[in-house]
Amino acid sequence: MKYVYQFNEGSKELKDLLGGKGANLAEMTKIGLPVPQGFTITTQACNDYHQVNRGLTGDMLEQILSGIDNFEELTGKKFGDNMNPLFVSVRSGAAISMPGMMDTILNLGLNDETVDALARKTNSAQFAYASYARFIEMYANVVCKVPKYLFDVILRRYAKDYNEITLEQLLDLISDYKLLFIEETGLVFPRDPLEQCKNAIKAVFDSWNNERAVIYRRLNDIPNDLGTAVTVQEMVFGNLGKTSGTGVLFTRNPATGENDIYGEYLIDAQGEDVVAGIRTPNEISTLKDVMPTIFDELIKTAKMLENYYRDIQDIEFTIEDKKLFLLQTRNGKRTPFVGVKIAVDMVEEGLITEEEAIMRIKPESLNQILFPTFTKETLKNAKRIGLGLPASPGCVSGQICLNPKEINKYEESILVTLETTPEDIEAMHCSSGILTCRGGMTSHAAVVARGMGKSCITGSHDVEIDLSAQKVRIGSIEFNEGDSISIDGSTGKIYQGVVKASSSGFSTEFTKFMDMVDKHRTTEVRTNVDSAKDLEKAIMLGAQGIGLCRTEHMFFMEERINHIREMIISSSTKERKIALDKLKNYQKSDFIDIFKTLDGRPLNVRLLDAPLHEFLPREELEKQKVASSLNVSINIIEKRIQELHEFNPMLGHRGCRLAITYPEIYKMQANAIIEAAIEVQKQGIDVNLEVMLPLIIDLKEFQVLKVDLEKIFFTKIEESGIKIDYKFGTMIEMVRGCLLADEIATEADYFSFGTNDLTQVTFGFSRDDSVKYTDEYLKKGILEYDPFKSIDRKGVGALIETACQLGRETKPELKIGICGEHGGDPKSIKLFSELGFDYVSCSPFRIPTARLTLAQLELEK
Ligand code: PEP
Ligand code: MG
Repeated sequence: MKYVYQFNEGSKELKDLLGGKGANLAEMTKIGLPVPQGFTITTQACNDYHQVNRGLTGDMLEQILSGIDNFEELTGKKFGDNMNPLFVSVRSGAAISMPGMMDTILNLGLNDETVDALARKTNSAQFAYASYARFIEMYANVVCKVPKYLFDVILRRYAKDYNEITLEQLLDLISDYKLLFIEETGLVFPRDPLEQCKNAIKAVFDSWNNERAVIYRRLNDIPNDLGTAVTVQEMVFGNLGKTSGTGVLFTRNPATGENDIYGEYLIDAQGEDVVAGIRTPNEISTLKDVMPTIFDELIKTAKMLENYYRDIQDIEFTIEDKKLFLLQTRNGKRTPFVGVKIAVDMVEEGLITEEEAIMRIKPESLNQILFPTFTKETLKNAKRIGLGLPASPGCVSGQICLNPKEINKYEESILVTLETTPEDIEAMHCSSGILTCRGGMTSHAAVVARGMGKSCITGSHDVEIDLSAQKVRIGSIEFNEGDSISIDGSTGKIYQGVVKASSSGFSTEFTKFMDMVDKHRTTEVRTNVDSAKDLEKAIMLGAQGIGLCRTEHMFFMEERINHIREMIISSSTKERKIALDKLKNYQKSDFIDIFKTLDGRPLNVRLLDAPLHEFLPREELEKQKVASSLNVSINIIEKRIQELHEFNPMLGHRGCRLAITYPEIYKMQANAIIEAAIEVQKQGIDVNLEVMLPLIIDLKEFQVLKVDLEKIFFTKIEESGIKIDYKFGTMIEMVRGCLLADEIATEADYFSFGTNDLTQVTFGFSRDDSVKYTDEYLKKGILEYDPFKSIDRKGVGALIETACQLGRETKPELKIGICGEHGGDPKSIKLFSELGFDYVSCSPFRIPTARLTLAQLELEK
């Protein structure tokens, strides 16, 4: 087994084996760019290491040693040599980038002897000893888990940071660090670079399973068995004085997508100084004045790399005494909004094809594009109190939360903190937005927030936190934890209190992108809405019709609920009909609006699904109000509530079960629907009508209901003298419905899978409050994911497949769709696409995601 690849042996194609970093360093070496020498230990080695109970096998060790030999030969330097010592960095690098989640060790190879050689070589004892101190700290923290703050406490006895400490102090500091190491580990700090190196490699492998990496993988759906590679690379030093430096550069602006070089650097610094955000870095364009030749070389190389990889590149570089080195290039993380812009721009520039552009965007990420923004209107009365760097776009308001561990204390929290660290990943995920005092546009907070699509402002000097008093001053105003502020991650502006945000609308690039997507998609995407207002939004987002109009939602509005209550407490069919007639007018006018907005697109109406008790009041006061408005005694209300009480309403008297006992309800709805259809069609607007029955379990049940409905449709259409087509379909959401789908299909024109209820009844898990135990099922690995979020292929999926097969046996042309929540979930859509569904239907904001998922699946085919 080959575990170790020299940089000149690998290539970008070996990303799975060498990790993104290792593969790209190899590729850059291959094309002759200035990359410090090194080798990469494979992800396979990581997996094997964990298999053998966290150990390096003999085979691995042998190859690592020969890698180091080779290294020493190429560089002419030697580990531990007093004259010409070799120093390396040991870095993690998975196939899928997990920024800051795993560990890295720099300056490895330093000890009491080599530190002097470094001092001589660089002509700076100050630099050499500061590097040594940093190395002890990093090694102790990463390899031996000595908490970092213990080192901070010692450092602060001498100076604010490593840049402000004198040489004499440094010598004392190093002694103190070594003593701390002994106290904390019971061991002497290792002086043998080979031992340091082996331990560092093991620690990086171990960091694959540290808590933050595991959480990051869970949040980003990264498989646990990918493993990380380890890259061992010769150190180059950006902190050798004024002619050295280090920085990060994006080939396009990751915050806006503009085709301009974007980046930051620090003179006389090491890489982690830029990322950690302790010093605020300079904008890359100013490097032109400081080091013009290096600047030109850097820009030329960056553009070359972008053309080579055909994607925006995020490049890490170091300048060691006027010589440029590239330490990493990778595809730059970007917000979903920017991702779409760059994809469209690159198609227009001829750099990539339409198909590539489509495959590059994660379907789920499109939800985030539709984030709200503050408009001129809403900002009119807003008070701006501070400014920071616009690290990740999106406008949010929330309550100030100063403790990441308590982020869920408020419904909408803005995490306000000095700077974020990878430990804060979960808090960042749960927050509505992030505001930091320190750090630049490439700091941890900025990079992670952008990846998550969270609004974020970094490096705001207007923010001062006082943790002991649980207060924060922003500009001239003092806030308590829990007070509300608003942030605009696109401008870096901070506002007092809550500023109302409104939906952003989309960019021209978004529209162009979705047009491209639709060229490669045949499966229809519909929406679940029950008002013309929501429908307008959905159509803007690309809905091709309504896949589920839940009619009960039309009854809940203030002025209507009384009529349905009137119907419920009626003691005779006659009284019930009077109340229903009043409701009919409301429904009819709603359907007229919906048909008009649809303008010929299909409307799939589902007749009443909810049980009647849902319409009755629960609170005493409410009951009294209802009694007086209906002019009945409260006893009548109470009695009816008692009569309608069910132990398990989810499996109770609802949907078509209710219609079997009270046929006049569906009849009223049928009248409202068909009268609306006739009226709209008469106005010259096409209608495309589908009516479906919920919770069907038997063909006869379907027939009994359909006969009544068809009679109404037939008569009304006859009377109108115009032609209207319609279809009668059924929800398939009960297990019996799935198993008897062949019989039901003899009468039903189409099936629409109600996967919410189907999941509920298949699992016997309540769809409303199963979180309590599903969480435990997930933690214990009994379930891999929440079946209400992504379809359970094994159980629910098998029932769906059976129902499709049976239905199509009876009626090969049977139209099949899905209207449960799974219709907007990419993982589930994959199953529906495989089963040849005609459409998926989902809530408006998930439509772009569904469109893109379907296009990608069809392109993959
Ligand atoms: C379903 O059960 O999946 C469905 C779409 O219906 P509802 O969510 O209204 O029960
Ligand atoms: Mg249902």
